[in-house]
Amino acid sequence: MKPGRHAIALALALMSAGVFAIDASDRYRSPRNPERPIRRTTELIVLHTTEAAARGSLKKLSERGECHYCVTEEGTVYRIVDRDREAFHAGRSMWNGKEDVDKFSIGIECVGYHDKAMSLVQLAAIRTLVKELQSMYHLGDEKVVCHAHVAYSAPNKWHKKRCRGRKQCGMLFAMPSVRRVLDLKKRVASDPDTKAKRLAVGDPYLEKVLYGNVDTMRGTYAKANIASAPKPAPSATDRLLGMFGLENTSSGQIKAPAPPKVEPSTSAPKGLKSKSAAKTKAAPKTTPTDRIPTSQADLKRRGYRLIGTVSPYNTASRIAGAKWNSPNTFYTIRNKVIPGNLINPAKIEKGMGIWAK
Ligand SMILES: [Zn+2]
Repeated sequence: MKPGRHAIALALALMSAGVFAIDASDRYRSPRNPERPIRRTTELIVLHTTEAAARGSLKKLSERGECHYCVTEEGTVYRIVDRDREAFHAGRSMWNGKEDVDKFSIGIECVGYHDKAMSLVQLAAIRTLVKELQSMYHLGDEKVVCHAHVAYSAPNKWHKKRCRGRKQCGMLFAMPSVRRVLDLKKRVASDPDTKAKRLAVGDPYLEKVLYGNVDTMRGTYAKANIASAPKPAPSATDRLLGMFGLENTSSGQIKAPAPPKVEPSTSAPKGLKSKSAAKTKAAPKTTPTDRIPTSQADLKRRGYRLIGTVSPYNTASRIAGAKWNSPNTFYTIRNKVIPGNLINPAKIEKGMGIWAK
């Protein structure tokens, strides 16, 4: 493909400016955006679990403007409320004596449940998003918390005092095994508000999960190797650069979740790699362009078979597992054939056929 001059100019402008937007879909961008105040400070990233399936969750989150991002099971990131505005995600909340955590935090909803393991594809997408936000707002690993850390209850019939433990939302993200997969090296060591007696401990089990040794995901992720975690599809920018044999290495902000292999520096300008250099590195694992099947008949001829059709209840990761973004997995829709390594997860749609050997 011959890139147009405008596209090259755009790619170069993006690179030289060092501006790389978070790769997210605007399909569920909240209609509440204009009415939400600009957030004055960002001190925490709060992770949530939707406790429900993606489709209904996305609709509700968008309608009510209840988070900044939502990450689905197959690793698609949706932008809901603009990241510089306030999203209503934490409800009655306090951290370090400051009430209303919405006023100083970013909220990320992760499709899933507080006590259930998530796929490595989803965790890889969460990790990339969190890292990007951490670097934008200069937040250390201990500033990445879960909703359970910050929510609290008003006095009620069980507790005379205000107490922590109103929510277990996002609880798994406090567990060391999950944090290891997310490449978060530190977690907050103790609850500043129960310590200072501003709040009572309302849920001793949760307290042990957040600050103690309870880690119910240890078995699941014991062998999970961050390096082998599946890589979500490349961002739009990277795809654009990739079309021209360029690679986005000019900014430390955008990184593939798998640690990049150490490459000897070349004489090419920073952030620019010659076509041959990129080719040498990528060649072994990529299907050469001239061999990408062109139709369903072509796929069949080459021994691929239809292994499933995407629907809200049959997601790409459910159909193809960790190989959803493999160059040897193909997506078909309206006579188009797209290899898994080139598919944009935001564009995986209902009715797409998934083919593999
Ligand atoms: Zn929550």
